[in-house]
Amino acid sequence: MVSRVIPVDPFDLVVIGGTGDLARRKILPALYRRFCAGQIPDDAQIIGAARSEMDDAGYRDFVGAALDEFAGAAGCDDRARFLSIIGYVTLDARGDGGWAALAGRLEPGRVQAFYFSVGPSLFMTIAERLQAHGMAGPDTRIVVEKPFGRDLASARALNADLAKYFDEGQIYRIDHYLGKETVQNLMAIRFGNMLFEPLWNSQYVDHIQITVAETVGVEGRGEYYERAGAMRDMVQNHLMQLLCLIAMEPPSKFDPDAVRDEKLKVIRALDPVTPDDVVRGQYLADGDRPGFREHVGNAESTTESFIALKVRISNWRWAGTPIYLRTGKRLRARTSEIDVVFKDTPHSIFGPEAGRHRNILTIRLQPNEGIDLGVTIKEPGPGGMRLVDVPLDMTFAQALGPDAKDVPDAYERLIMDVIRGNQTLFMRGDEVEAAWAWTDPIIAGWEEAGKDPIPYDTGSAGPEEALALMHRDGRRWREIRV
Ligand code: NAP
Repeated sequence: MVSRVIPVDPFDLVVIGGTGDLARRKILPALYRRFCAGQIPDDAQIIGAARSEMDDAGYRDFVGAALDEFAGAAGCDDRARFLSIIGYVTLDARGDGGWAALAGRLEPGRVQAFYFSVGPSLFMTIAERLQAHGMAGPDTRIVVEKPFGRDLASARALNADLAKYFDEGQIYRIDHYLGKETVQNLMAIRFGNMLFEPLWNSQYVDHIQITVAETVGVEGRGEYYERAGAMRDMVQNHLMQLLCLIAMEPPSKFDPDAVRDEKLKVIRALDPVTPDDVVRGQYLADGDRPGFREHVGNAESTTESFIALKVRISNWRWAGTPIYLRTGKRLRARTSEIDVVFKDTPHSIFGPEAGRHRNILTIRLQPNEGIDLGVTIKEPGPGGMRLVDVPLDMTFAQALGPDAKDVPDAYERLIMDVIRGNQTLFMRGDEVEAAWAWTDPIIAGWEEAGKDPIPYDTGSAGPEEALALMHRDGRRWREIRV
């Protein structure tokens, strides 16, 4: 039922930063799984590139070890066949050595994609070298990772730099949240069913909550995180993308620009957020687990590891329906979900003792990707009309049976989309800039107000003040649980 694999045409994919953490953990295992699924042909070419001195054989050993560690149970009998399409070129993004050798490896006339799996400070110099060595032709595609800037000015500068060598249609800004099965299902549910869309507005929806909770801290990423914080690392990109998909108008067709135009309209309709509608937190030490300030090596850090915000969208559909966003580290459970909380029925024929019951549509991104709809029914048995809320659960693993294991993960899907030339699930330059234009004043707001993050315990739901953010509106967060 699930997998109808359509092989892509032979391509060259160069992973610049092919020895890095992202390549080992995500990109290479994703390519392996697509190869095993029969989607990548035997005459495709995957080339790692970085400064480390290595030959093809050495890199194949490196890739084999990465697959052992990170490819999970996925695999096929002939791993050697996959490794045979892998090569390696030693090059320095800031120097000239190695680039001509790379150009010599590529096969003219087919899709050539360059995955910039390196820090953003190298994007421009890589683009320049691709151009200088004849690899920035009209059919070239480049994939760039987050963070895409750290504010509007830097995102604009990055967009302008890349635009010197590549058209917008050649630039794939990756946000792996958009590659998740459930995120795409969000569009299928909204626009493939008659049931929900008539109710999808402020007349019927009381509020929406988006939670992305992690149990890990910032171990190993302290230096980066101290400069970013949860707002830049998570809200400006991942949560913003989820918000756009949940709130956008139906695009006229499922086409990259039609979808991205609608997302952009949502971002542009977001109201400014005042400091009163923002709660920031920092996790405390827990036993022998260091706290946030130790992790980032700054005893006076004012960076947030948790943030909750109340967001308003000023348009006809959503005026009056707030959206509450929350994300943080070292929280009670690792879970990402969107909850669409519908309004009360206008009148309860069952009387006040039946209590308050609300339909809640929950879209779970992780774990147990799936969707459930809370509906109110009669509690079984005699004794009058007592009401109870039960979930209509569609966990994909159950609903799809054994086929669910064939659902590609986010990186698999997104990399294949690059090869197929489909930009629907990638952020357009103007979208990224609009998201920063909304984010920057929020950050400036708390900096001006001198509001520091509030400490919270590991294993909690964040600072108490985040609960108060909803309580004061007569609402409450859904529990953070697996
Ligand atoms: P990393 O582990 O530090 O790897 C960086 C890679 O770049 C290495 O292969 C390194 O290899 C290569 N490199 C560094 N300087 C170079 C130069 N001058 N010329 C050529 N190659 C160079 O970083 P990462 O975690 O993989 O992250 C890569 C990018 O993805 C970053 O932008 C990061 O923000 C983003 N990202 C990462 C993750 C993740 O889970 N890791 C998630 C989301 C986004 P050599 O030292 O051999 O040159």
